[in-house]
Amino acid sequence: MNVLLVYAHPEPRSLNAALRDVAVEALLAQGHDVQISDLYADNWKSQVDRADFPSLTEHERLVTTAASKKDFEAGTLTEDVQAEIEKLLWADALILQFPLWWFSMPAILKGWIDRVFAYGFAYGVGEHSDSRWGDRYGEGTLAGKRAMLIVTAGGWQEHYEARGINGPIDDLLFPINHGILYYPGYDVLPPFVVYRVDRFDDSGFEPVAERLRERMQTLFTSPPIPYRPQNAGDYLIPSMQLRPGLGEESKSGFSLHIDNEERDPAGLNAEGSPVSV
Ligand code: FAD
Repeated sequence: MNVLLVYAHPEPRSLNAALRDVAVEALLAQGHDVQISDLYADNWKSQVDRADFPSLTEHERLVTTAASKKDFEAGTLTEDVQAEIEKLLWADALILQFPLWWFSMPAILKGWIDRVFAYGFAYGVGEHSDSRWGDRYGEGTLAGKRAMLIVTAGGWQEHYEARGINGPIDDLLFPINHGILYYPGYDVLPPFVVYRVDRFDDSGFEPVAERLRERMQTLFTSPPIPYRPQNAGDYLIPSMQLRPGLGEESKSGFSLHIDNEERDPAGLNAEGSPVSV
């Protein structure tokens, strides 16, 4: 199988770089083909601006969605963006790896998504009408492929648990997992998160590396997070509200959009810990 690892860390000797090497080695050992997009090394342009849309004339007002649609459909997006789109189409699985910065991804990676997830490719796909709200949330260009996050965090694991002050990690990562990855169709696996890494030393590395190797071995077999697909009847169209009677145990918030009925019998994620949203 083909795996694309999009990697966002500025330091080649970082912990993240060492973990990336562990993941890649484990994937290659299983016979997978791997491509890496190393955003800092590639000096990736992170901001969306006029230069992204070669079809836009000098005096035309930039309407970003419209410009993205036009250049995507014409095949005239910039070369760097086209190359990443090709990689995404090639890959059976996408891994995004980054240090948690201000409870989210580094800006360079957000900029990769802003520029590469073009209109007509990652959004604005499928029929939009009163009876169908496009191909998204489980459907879309990238359906049938898998995606997963590898994240390092300075904070303690307890601080990211259900009652922890930072908020549950699954909630913090929901906009990425559900809003960015599930949206264009990916089946999203539970994230691989390493906590308290700033205090990490060499003795802490090997157990984490071993857990990561195990996750790489099950990249194509472990069950994804059971997000509710948009067009399978759980949502009312066009309000896109969850149907009355569903998700009653959660009442509101991100966990409404996970179908607990479909969870594995033990209710465990692939890390062996309870899925907390
Ligand atoms: P590094 O600094 O490269 O390494 C961390 C430790 O791992 C070092 O002590 C290093 O010696 C050790 N190590 C052990 N084995 C190895 C090995 N084989 N190779 C390399 N190093 C090894 N944290 C949060 O929890 N929430 C936040 O919102 C948050 N926001 C942040 C915002 C910013 C702007 C910054 C700079 C940090 C933030 N942090 C936050 C902390 C951040 O998540 C961590 O600093 C980051 O995850 C550490 O990963 P790294 O790859 O940079 O580690």
